[in-house]
Amino acid sequence: MQSFECNVIGHIESPYKEKFAIPRQPGLVPGGSGRLHLHSPYNDPNSVRGLTQFSHIWVLFIFHQTMQGGWKPLVRPPRLGGNEKMGVFATRSTFRPNPIGMSLIELKNVIVKNNQVILELGSLDLVDGTPVIDIKPYLPFAESIATAKAGFAQDAPSDDMQVIFLPQVQQDLVKYQQSYPGLSEFIQQVLMQDPRPAYKKHGTNEQRDYAVHLLDFNIRWRVIDSVTEVFAIEPYEK
Ligand code: SAM
Repeated sequence: MQSFECNVIGHIESPYKEKFAIPRQPGLVPGGSGRLHLHSPYNDPNSVRGLTQFSHIWVLFIFHQTMQGGWKPLVRPPRLGGNEKMGVFATRSTFRPNPIGMSLIELKNVIVKNNQVILELGSLDLVDGTPVIDIKPYLPFAESIATAKAGFAQDAPSDDMQVIFLPQVQQDLVKYQQSYPGLSEFIQQVLMQDPRPAYKKHGTNEQRDYAVHLLDFNIRWRVIDSVTEVFAIEPYEK
């Protein structure tokens, strides 16, 4: 068999509305949680019977926003600063021969109502609308290996960027937090990871403004003297 088709069983609802600034793995931004909506006929309540006995699940999905880009044998992992190349199979690059990703995500709850099956998830690394092709329970006895080696990706990436909200955004933050509790922590956690492209991080006097679509907001910031300054939080407009 040289190829086969697989079915999309559901999709992800995520606070990350674009690829830029999404954490590179789940768990890195605790405030960035989401939901998985199962599609018919996989939304049969029987298909999730027993699932709530598991605290974490593997979500297998399609890198649908990068799959057009194809793949190459060598890629540049961002955590190596974008300079060194590694074999695609030694990385979690989204540009793979088959655009399949896998994320280990906390399962908080399963909601079954009105023909809908919705999985409430913890911190994730997926863009809104990501197509899901499978769900499997996480089995710590087989999949948690304390002595495992992980080469250039042994440790969690450091997120030591200082993030401040400039005075002009304070009032908006207070207002928006009434409907979006935890908004400031979420923005801070996302930006602490410094989502700028690797080559920009080394520039000393870069004065560029950045923007990202999170939840229903357009967040704008710049980096000055290694401090991230959020200078606008606006309702997102297309
Ligand atoms: N945990 C998964 C894995 O290891 O297979 C994904 C890791 S991948 C490095 C995570 C990145 O994929 C995110 O930072 C985001 O930029 C990108 N991403 C998330 N959802 C995507 C999608 N549906 N299509 C393409 N890229 C996506």
